[in-house]
Amino acid sequence: MLRPRYVPPEDIFPPNPWAFEAVQYDARLAQELTGQAETMFALSNGYLGIRGSVEEGTPVQEAGTYLSGFYEHRPISYGEHAYGFPTVGQSILNCPSGTALKLFVEDEPFVVPQAEILSYRRSLDLRAGTLNRDVRWASPAGTRLHMRTVRLVSLAHRHLAAIAFVLTAEDADVEIAISSELENAPSSTADIADPRLAASLAGRVLHPTGFQAEGMRALLSYRTESSGFHLGCGMDHAVSSESSYLTEQVCNDDFAAVTMRCKLARNKPIVIYKYLSYHYSDNSAPARILFQTALTLDRALKSGFQEIVERQRSDVERFWARADVAVECDNPRTQQTIRWNLFQLLQASERSEGHGIGARGLTGRTYEGHYFWDTEIYVLPFLIYTNPVIARSVLKFRYDMLDKARARARELGHRGATFPWRTINGNEASAYYAAGTAQYHINADIAYALQKYVNVTGDDEFLWSYGAEILTETARLWFDLGFFSESKGGKFCINGVTGPDEYTAIVNNNCFTNLMARENLRYAAQVVCDLKRVHPDRFDALAQRTGLDSSELADWEDASERMYLPYDERLKIHPQDDDFLDLEKWDFAATPENRYPLLLYYHPLNLYRSQVIKQADTVMAMFLLNEHFTHEEKRRNFEYYDPLTTHDSSLSVCIQSVVANEIGLRHKAIEYFNFAAAMDMSDIGGNMMNGAHVAAIGGTWLALVYGFAGLRDSKGCISFNPVLPKEWSHLGLVLTVRGQKFRIEVGPNSVIYTLLSGERLDFSHVGEDLVLSSAEPVITRPTGQGRANA
Ligand code: BGC
Repeated sequence: MLRPRYVPPEDIFPPNPWAFEAVQYDARLAQELTGQAETMFALSNGYLGIRGSVEEGTPVQEAGTYLSGFYEHRPISYGEHAYGFPTVGQSILNCPSGTALKLFVEDEPFVVPQAEILSYRRSLDLRAGTLNRDVRWASPAGTRLHMRTVRLVSLAHRHLAAIAFVLTAEDADVEIAISSELENAPSSTADIADPRLAASLAGRVLHPTGFQAEGMRALLSYRTESSGFHLGCGMDHAVSSESSYLTEQVCNDDFAAVTMRCKLARNKPIVIYKYLSYHYSDNSAPARILFQTALTLDRALKSGFQEIVERQRSDVERFWARADVAVECDNPRTQQTIRWNLFQLLQASERSEGHGIGARGLTGRTYEGHYFWDTEIYVLPFLIYTNPVIARSVLKFRYDMLDKARARARELGHRGATFPWRTINGNEASAYYAAGTAQYHINADIAYALQKYVNVTGDDEFLWSYGAEILTETARLWFDLGFFSESKGGKFCINGVTGPDEYTAIVNNNCFTNLMARENLRYAAQVVCDLKRVHPDRFDALAQRTGLDSSELADWEDASERMYLPYDERLKIHPQDDDFLDLEKWDFAATPENRYPLLLYYHPLNLYRSQVIKQADTVMAMFLLNEHFTHEEKRRNFEYYDPLTTHDSSLSVCIQSVVANEIGLRHKAIEYFNFAAAMDMSDIGGNMMNGAHVAAIGGTWLALVYGFAGLRDSKGCISFNPVLPKEWSHLGLVLTVRGQKFRIEVGPNSVIYTLLSGERLDFSHVGEDLVLSSAEPVITRPTGQGRANA
């Protein structure tokens, strides 16, 4: 049931277009929204992520510090085991937390809920890339104190986080102690009633392998129990104070603290710069990891906080220059929400090189930090158009999993490769095959993303070096999985799969899957054929590596041409699968609002035997494979499926918005967009305290760019058909296509295209072919009417 669980009150959370901030302290809200605030204020660079827990350490839900790809194995136990069920999963680990700078004023701990707060502001500055806090309060003895902190996770140095902590006693000298800590504390345990949460790992996971402490520096190192990683983490400090201070240090296996004590003279602040460093590796000895950890700290101390914070600002400025989306409308929250979402995409991806992007980025442990199709379908388009280097890295990461995907295919009795539904290290980690392994569509999703990447960036080299092999193995999988069915007139059918809609499982001929597989087979045949023609030597190498026989290409083409697509003549719609229309319709009227998401209140069998949909499925196919449906088919399909869709997955509404736009349902398009954009800001799913919904965030960008700006990019041909929601007066966005960076500004009556860098961009606007070039860098045209009226 779509509804905001929380509407941020404007007096506390003003809709600043460049910050998400709380400008007052409200004790009840702070207590109730502890977890939500940790997510909203989380910082990350795509490699290192730190939740927005407060420096004084309490109240806290999870002082999470995560490293992309740093996990422990987790045994998966089944009541009843069957062949091919994965027995070992992976779970992202919570690393020792270093955000604590605990303050004691005259030996009393400072914690906000118990303090007499005079003023309060906490702000995620979306331009500076920092989390800032400014608190003034009166101590129990009546002294006024002022604390300011600036925290960042560096985009430039991916192993580094830094905190500046400034404390001033405003009206008297006062005795203070500040304990700066790094602590390996046990993680909170999961709520077993919600399968989406990370299961807790039994026993000690991080085994200490050494600690070092010297001066104001402390280093801790660990090895994981079974995944074979070594972790190093450390902290160091630089202090400036006119009051003389004493430092003490404790350090043991799981805890390090540097304590600074002083009589703080009135109006003479003490400034502490705390640097945190995290490294991990699967092939380094503990001493080596500690050495690397120390190197990062040395580098940070040498640069100094000012330089680090300036570099952060300029990195974030560069991000906005290539990726901002500006919206003008009466509701100022809209712009803030959009920018917060875009900032999350930056945070989830910028330094993720060599790793995937988890379903919650690095803001929480929901789904155990796993990578799903979310990355390729929801996040990759944004990266392709704004940061192709990272888009390539994400795809290369999939390529690097290919051997494991081949092994998994063998285990399942298939040819080719079967990519895992959810994973960190490439091995399938889904314990529930019906909504996991059966989602074979992930293979076609990866191929689809690859195709988009190559078409939009022009990176043929990637295609020849890596893409052709991914395509070969995924096409083989489809050809092996499906068959030419006599009962379906010799058409190629794919049975026993689950589409994106997880409320309908293990079905025959899921329309989405068949369409995506068809595209995968077709593209694979075309690419391999081109490779043979253009680079015969590389084709030979591919054939040798994969045992490819040229005759397979004809099989793939044949299967793609004869792919079976369910169609119902009576309703003139594409049934979601062979049997979907035979199911009884779900009784929505008899379903109380508090029984959503249905997955938490109904047995899967109840869902599987009903026409009830978790998330866009056939509607998703109409978005991704737009040109395969007529306008009428789109309209009829949408009208059939939309009322059956619960949007119990955060991946749903953004896609419904794009398609609603396309078929001219303007009201629905903006309504769904607003839900997608506010998924976290208004806690639509009721679970954002456990991490940000990265796919919905990427989907928000999809709804802006493919929805309102009307971008289509099939086969790399760029076209726009913009239509502004009537509530908006302006939509501006920046995209890069094959190295040409350009801006689109959509107004109610006209659209301005401006070439920002590059030589020439060919594209079309509402069916008219146009060229942006250095000779004609600006083109203005009347606004489109949306695809429906194109
Ligand atoms: C959705 C999947 C998605 C996963 C991770 C599930 O609830 O149904 O499509 O991949 O969440 O975001």
